Amino acid sequence: SLCQRASFIKSASEVDQCPPDQGFEVAFAGRSNAGKSSALNTLTHARLARTSKTPGRTQLINFFGLDEQRRLVDLPGYGYAKVPLALKEHWKQHLDAYLTHRDSLVGLVLVMDIRHPLSDFDQMMLQWAGDSSLPTLVLLSKADKLAFGASKNELLKIQARVRKEHGDLVSVQLFSSPKRQGVDEAHAVLEQWFFP
Ligand code: GDP
Repeated sequence: SLCQRASFIKSASEVDQCPPDQGFEVAFAGRSNAGKSSALNTLTHARLARTSKTPGRTQLINFFGLDEQRRLVDLPGYGYAKVPLALKEHWKQHLDAYLTHRDSLVGLVLVMDIRHPLSDFDQMMLQWAGDSSLPTLVLLSKADKLAFGASKNELLKIQARVRKEHGDLVSVQLFSSPKRQGVDEAHAVLEQWFFP
């Protein structure tokens, strides 16, 4: 798969440091500890994203190239209580500038811990994606932490709620990094976005 060819391009702490805005980009977002780095690593068979992070490092947008025209983007995690307010404000503006102005952005992957779904942050991201008509894939990570039946129930509940509140540009998928659950399905969605 295309995703297996991911390699680091650069980090941007300001939006003007992003690579040229051409081709196709899919961005990954999630609250801190949701499992975003693990999901990125699992989907790319690589260790692209650090799974243990210090708050200071989370303020960077990281770009990974798949081919000349296609990139995965690791957006900064959100929710570290320890991060000072000024930094949170900077983060918000930074992210907002990227999300609002990036023409090459074709899809958003929003990672949520299946046990703590639809936080304020998640709702904000879904709202924003909806306003921008950006197709979104919600990965309910750590599905392995629930019994199979319970994870299916959660999926149905969350699917219904997301569809009602955010429409059908959002799809929802169970995901587990250690079990590689949902990997083929997520790859299929990414391929659709990257090769419209
Ligand atoms: P991030 O802050 O969103 O990038 O989260 P990480 O990927 O660093 O994951 C946070 C913690 O959850 C780490 O201890 C991971 O090993 C664990 N984790 C992430 N995804 C999964 C998963 O699918 N299943 C299980 N059991 N643990 C996971």
